[in-house]
Amino acid sequence: MTVMEALSPALEKPIAFSPATQETRPSLIGLTREELGKALVEKGLPERQVKMRVQQIWHWLYIRGVSDFDEMKNVSKDLRELLHAHFTIQRPEIVEEQISNDGTRKWLLRFPPRGAGRPVEIETVYIPEEGRGTLCVSSQVGCTLTCDFCHTGTQRLVRNLTAEEIVSQLLLARDRLGDFPDRDTPQGAIVPSEGRKITNMVMMGMGEPLYNFDHVKTAMLIASDGDGLSLSKRRITLSTSGVVPEIVRIGEETGVMLAISLHAVRDELRDLLVPINRKYPLKELMAACKAYPGLSNARRITFEYVMLKGVNDSLVDARDLVRTLKGIPAKINLIPFNPWPGSKYECSDWETIEAFADFINAAGYASPIRTPRGRDILAACGQLKSESERMKKTDRLAFEAMMIANHGED
Ligand code: SAH
Ligand code: SF4
Repeated sequence: MTVMEALSPALEKPIAFSPATQETRPSLIGLTREELGKALVEKGLPERQVKMRVQQIWHWLYIRGVSDFDEMKNVSKDLRELLHAHFTIQRPEIVEEQISNDGTRKWLLRFPPRGAGRPVEIETVYIPEEGRGTLCVSSQVGCTLTCDFCHTGTQRLVRNLTAEEIVSQLLLARDRLGDFPDRDTPQGAIVPSEGRKITNMVMMGMGEPLYNFDHVKTAMLIASDGDGLSLSKRRITLSTSGVVPEIVRIGEETGVMLAISLHAVRDELRDLLVPINRKYPLKELMAACKAYPGLSNARRITFEYVMLKGVNDSLVDARDLVRTLKGIPAKINLIPFNPWPGSKYECSDWETIEAFADFINAAGYASPIRTPRGRDILAACGQLKSESERMKKTDRLAFEAMMIANHGED
């Protein structure tokens, strides 16, 4: 069976969502408790009710996963009418949902323009594995950085995603996987056999999350809120290309796990591959990593290292990598390079990757090599339709491959 046959559109017909993209009422999703309270008071809720109402609405939004005010059973009719009149809790529009034969799911989601001139689209990817399910989430549409091997880096930044849009990726995925109480998981879905369908979240989609600090922070705090989506902070990972001044701060303010897109351990080479290195060179980056709060052998930083043929894949590079990470509780993720149309790099040969992995294993680092699922889906992407107003097909191919290959850690 070819991959193309294995991939089936999950939906027989497009989901008939009312056009969420044209919604003008502000959403209550993605607000902090304080912001939520303030929004309700502004529309006439008496101050004395705020605490209780915020708690109720929060529960319905994040524990029960409702997307219609009328389902908020313990909220009075009057208040539900007020909510209807002024706010929305609608999910984003699903442009497309696809399921691979290995259970990987991709959603192409459309959000309102919010200053971008036209609606924006991003992808969210779900990767089920034995005992866990990881959701790979985007933080920006496009990216301001220009990493030389990354296709997103060739696109200009369209805009930051709001906290609502980041949290909505998680809500929507939980909807579609039946991962809220009293919801059915779709027949045949590949999900962890027990417990939650989404156990891990990685900010490893499109964009540099630390350049959208406030929204990403709020979204991750909602995702880990014990009275809400309650993902363990140990199971939320933020990946950064190395925005040094924000690294310790995001750790202090959220407590999530950190991943660094390292890719090279000589400044000269990293300047080229990850140009933010010119601003924040390796020495500063490593100092920020060492200062990341809460590090221990049980709480390590993940260093992502893309394997580029003849560029950063020699055993000397492996030796220097081990030296660079000395003293930092670290895991190393070797990522086979996913080529994209027009990319100037090639993926290292398999033997080279294995030799590199053996070297760093011998130095005491577990070094999983992330690969097969990305290839499967990349091939399958040929099925996706491409229309001019949608993300260009080539953009999506490269983007999907990146998200799936690098879906993070426990
Ligand atoms: N912008 C953030 C989050 C993206 S995470 C960051 O750079 O950390 C996605 C990971 O995939 C990053 O480590 C990124 O460097 C890597 N990546 C980008 N393009 C890739 C490609 N074509 N092949 C393999 N990995 C890639
Ligand atoms: Fe942006 Fe990350 Fe791609 Fe670099 S690797 S261009 S920071 S998305």
